Amino acid sequence: MNRIMIKDLSGHKAETVTINAWVDVARNQGKMAFFDFRDVSGKVQGVVFGKPEVLEVAKTLRPEWVVAIEGVVNERPEKMVNTDVVNGDIELEITAIVVLNTAETPAFELEDTSGVNEEVRLKNRFVDLRTERMHNNIAMRCKVISHIRNHLGEKGFFEIETPLLTKSTPEGARDYLVPSRLYPGSAYALPQSPQQYKQTLMASGFEKYFQIARCMRDEDLRGDRQPEFTQMDLEMSFTSEEEIINLNEQLLIEIVEKYYPEKRIQEVPFPRITYADAMEKYGNDRPDIREDKEDPNLLAFCWVVDFPGFERTDKSDDPQATGEWTFTHNPFSLPKESDIEKLRNKEDIGSIIASQYDIALNGYEIGGGSIRCHDAQLQRTILQILGHSDEKIDTNFDHMLRMLNSGCPPHGGIAWGLDRLVMLLQGEPNIREVIPFPKTREGRDPMMDSPATVPTEQWNELNLEVKEKKKD
Ligand code: ASP
Repeated sequence: MNRIMIKDLSGHKAETVTINAWVDVARNQGKMAFFDFRDVSGKVQGVVFGKPEVLEVAKTLRPEWVVAIEGVVNERPEKMVNTDVVNGDIELEITAIVVLNTAETPAFELEDTSGVNEEVRLKNRFVDLRTERMHNNIAMRCKVISHIRNHLGEKGFFEIETPLLTKSTPEGARDYLVPSRLYPGSAYALPQSPQQYKQTLMASGFEKYFQIARCMRDEDLRGDRQPEFTQMDLEMSFTSEEEIINLNEQLLIEIVEKYYPEKRIQEVPFPRITYADAMEKYGNDRPDIREDKEDPNLLAFCWVVDFPGFERTDKSDDPQATGEWTFTHNPFSLPKESDIEKLRNKEDIGSIIASQYDIALNGYEIGGGSIRCHDAQLQRTILQILGHSDEKIDTNFDHMLRMLNSGCPPHGGIAWGLDRLVMLLQGEPNIREVIPFPKTREGRDPMMDSPATVPTEQWNELNLEVKEKKKD
């Protein structure tokens, strides 16, 4: 018999149907057995009575077993109707049970996992993800992503994948390296962002690009960070700060209005605050401008604009600091028109303002981008200011300079931290709750048990040797 999804059962009253489901709750009451069954679409109550051969199987069922249930969709007696839940007015009178798979007792109750140790949840992520909370988080994440795809697709954006095995791109963090077996001593770097590729795509004439891009940054463990995370990455040619801001604002508003109608955006258009004002007034560059910080449905977006392009490197803080100046966001941003001459002459560097904008939501940075430098000579000057020798520029950035020299249009873009945005929309306390398979705060995956030690033969194949193993 054809499977009926649980959410559709009420359209089949008085019919005999089959569902495929998990046993959510099993209550054995001697002559009768009651169940809640669950599939991806919802839950329904099932009951066995008066059928001894069915009851015999029913009594063996345990939570999280996987079953095919045949039954008649009955209306519940009036006093048993529960109007608070889906399918609260029907129940399945079970006529046959097929056990598709049994299950060990889950490591924790799935009803409410809020008090369960996170390590235990992540080790058992396969069952943890079955909870209503996690299903809802992942489902909403999917909806947001597919809305982005549709919206940008309609606007003529190309969704283009860029490589994961790549070369270092400066985003201010350490790279994860993938040693090359075929080229001993060489390694690929995993992308900290698709920055250089997306700029290259602009030189290649695609004009509008986006990608739901995985980024990897080997940062010290601090705050609510993940070694790999997802960006909504976007780039446009012949554009302006104004156009990028408006496009992104519109997309964010649409997502909130369509999927989070209970939420209120504090101010539209989103207010714009200069970096200098934000620092002075709020002491940080991701200001929390909510009028009411207790209101869980308030979304206070704001743009922070006019970031300085460069800041002094602090060698005590960053052993890799190469010179006097470092970039504030990435080394590919163009200064504001009025500051370009200063840059060309390497004058008054600390006062140069970049065409860099960030977007903040309720005190979190959820995205940032800039208008890029499309002039190869100016790009070289920026890299020189950052302390790179001409020789180093020619080895590390030759491709960028050649690309800019190949007829590269003016361009700019942005990237959103998608995990963080979904976390805030879902009202979750950390990004691990909206990532299907996150790492712990310590950067480990307790389910796969990674990172894992690697057999000596594998290191040998890579021409590598471990100097000293960390002692446990
Ligand atoms: N690549 C930048 C980042 O990852 C975003 C951008 O400027 O588009 O922060």
